[in-house]
Parts: sequence; C-alpha cells; structure tokens
Amino acid sequence: MFSLLKIPFFRFGSIVPLALLALLGGCSVMQDVDRGLYQLADQVSETDRVTGERSLSLASRSEQIATGNRVVEQLLAAEKEAGRPVDLALDRVQYQRLIRIFDRVHSVSHLRNERWNAVLIDRDSFNAFTTGGTYIVVHLGLMQQLSDDSEVAAVVAHEIAHTVANHVFEAQSLTQAATLANSGSVKRDGYRAAFTHENEREADRVGILYMALAGYDPMAASRIWQRQYQAEGNRRALFAHSHPVNSEREAETRAVGEKVTAYYQQGRINPEAAALLANNVLWQKRSSEGVAAAGEGGGLQALGSTLLGALVQHEQAKTEERRQQQHAAFVRYVQAQLNLVSDERPASDRWRLRFEYMGEVELASLSLGGQVKQTDGAPATLVAHIKGPIRRGQSFVIELRGDILKPLDNPRQQVQLYLDDALPVQ
Ligand SMILES: [Zn+2]
Repeated sequence: MFSLLKIPFFRFGSIVPLALLALLGGCSVMQDVDRGLYQLADQVSETDRVTGERSLSLASRSEQIATGNRVVEQLLAAEKEAGRPVDLALDRVQYQRLIRIFDRVHSVSHLRNERWNAVLIDRDSFNAFTTGGTYIVVHLGLMQQLSDDSEVAAVVAHEIAHTVANHVFEAQSLTQAATLANSGSVKRDGYRAAFTHENEREADRVGILYMALAGYDPMAASRIWQRQYQAEGNRRALFAHSHPVNSEREAETRAVGEKVTAYYQQGRINPEAAALLANNVLWQKRSSEGVAAAGEGGGLQALGSTLLGALVQHEQAKTEERRQQQHAAFVRYVQAQLNLVSDERPASDRWRLRFEYMGEVELASLSLGGQVKQTDGAPATLVAHIKGPIRRGQSFVIELRGDILKPLDNPRQQVQLYLDDALPVQ
C-alpha cells in the first residue's frame, strides 16, 4: 500500500539543499534570494501537522477556518430558515453522546489547541463531514444507526483527521496549482478519485491512531467497513469511485487498527498521547533539527520539499488511478465471461442463480449485485459473496436474499444484475 505518512522526504528535503547550502554560505546576495524563496515556500505550503513535512497549501490556517466555518454557518442558517432544529434541540440524548465522544477524540488530536464544535443536523442518512474549519457536522441518522460509541468515534476521528491533514484545502490548492500549470491529469475524474483515495487512507490512519489514544477500540473502523461490504459490496462495475472500495477499506483499517492496539486502554485517554502523536508505529514526525533557517538555505530547502512532496503525491495518485482502471477493466472482463444458465425461487425472499464462468483467469472470489426498483421508485441493492476458486468452464450457484424480492413475479426482468467485484487468484 502507498503511504503518505512514511515517505522519507528528508532525503530530498535535507541532503540536497544541504549540499547547496555550502554554496550559499557567506554570500549576502544569495542570503536575500534564499529569504525570498523561504517566503515563497511559506505562501504556497504549510508544515504538515502529522509528518512535519511541508505540503502544498495556498491558504493559511486562519483563512481555512474562516472559509470552512462560513460554509457550516450558512448551513446552520438554512436549517433555521427551514425550521429544522439542530444539536440539543434536535435530540438531547444523541447530541450529548456525540459531544462526549467528540471531545475525547479532539482532545488527543493535533488540533486540540483550537476550539472545535460538533454539530448535529436533522438528516436520516449515514453521513458526517468536515469543511476544513473548526466544525464537524454529523447527521442524526448516523448517530441512530451506530449503537457502539467506538464506531461513532471512528467516524468523528476520520473527519478530524481530514482537517488536520489539510485535505480540504490541499485538494483546492491542487486544483488551483493545476489550473496554473495546465496539467492534464488533474482534470481527469479517475485522477481526482485516486487523489481522494489517498486522502481517505491517510484520514483513516490518522483517525484510527486518535481512537486508540482516546480509549476507543481502534478495530471499530474496520467493523463499519465490514458491514458496509456485506450490505452493499464494492459496486465496482457500477460507479466511478470517489472512495476506496469497501473491502479494501475494511482490510486496510483492520491492519492499522492492529498496529495501534498497543496504545489502546479501554475508556481511558492514553497518558502518553501527546508524545505518541509525534512518534508512533505509523509515522515519525520530522524534527526541526537539521532544518536550515531563512537566508541560510532554509528557503531553498522549504521550497524544494514542498515541490517534491506535491510531486510524490501526484505520482501516487497517478499510480492509484492506473491500479483502479486495471481492476475495473478486469471486472468488466469477468462480467462478460459469465452466463446465467438457470434460476429458481426456493422462497419468496430468495433468488438462486446458476452461472457458468468462461474466463481464462481463475477467480479467488466474486460478489454479485442486484438492483431492484422499490414501489416508491427508489433503488435497493442486494449483494451476495462467494469464495472461489472458480475456474474456466465451472458453474457456480449464488443466492440473493432480501425482503425486497418478495413482491417480484419475474426477477429476471425486474432485477438488474451486475458483477459487484471479482478478484483473481494471486
Ligand atoms: Zn473521508
């Protein structure tokens, strides 16, 4: 897996500019140039709170707070206008529960010195978001669907991590910089999705560390993704993905959770939390030692590591985009090699299908999706998963189950089948 957090930028950031530093030493004109470079680097970057590296950012933290909070305050005004209560007035029990969880997670985060607020709004959907300022907005539906506080902590920690890692404004800066540079790849949807994927992974990693430090079970994030995968699969053949697919997210969050389990003390903030934020099994913050001052090579160093950081991120996003495209092409290939040979209804809520697989590539697992239009017109999805190996010429049975099948007379006509995902035997 790619890791934004463990890239050794310092190889570029210190060694190369240190060599140049020797050339710059003692020359006052060059010192002025270097101070100018330092100011330029300061304008287009900020020091990453997690890694201590510089990353591309065209907005200062105070600008980010002003811009991000304006969006939330407009939302709150719109809620008031529409007569929809928020926070305590919306649901006392769920709001107090949210605040209790939120405060504990925020208190171990990199931005614990800022005053933050969690906002509860009246929406049924499973959603929460950040706008990069000092608010986290949570839908009431999410609180109602998650009875386990650790799972609420997982969502909240992930959103805090997005702001800490500057993802909202990094993406904006990327777009602005790309417009200036007229970069073709940044305009592609696949590239943007891949860039988002990397940000999601980073927010997962940082958020799961916060959970462990705050005394919430760090495995809770992977449980959410596991349920999501069971319920809706990966929908790989259906949509372009703005987020990593559920099964990958489950595996990745589980691996991170296992790594940070040693820091987790149930229900209790880890007394070493502050030190662990800078130095832990997932990353080591670059110290300011060895960083040259403005006018002494620090400008060149800062600008160099900003540009290299952006370049590495750009290359990672391109690699991820290629990987997603290859996998999507593989799923389309497998889908074309499947023939539905027979089907039956062993019960009104079950639809058993027999397929024949004609592909050359042996499959390790496969998931099948079916979309049904409900009586109110809204689509509902059923997913079934089976394990392989499935070889060429082999037939297999897979069964979709759910109450939404009950009213259907002829599922072959009423259900839109699609291949949700397929993995080759490695
Ligand atoms: Zn996210």
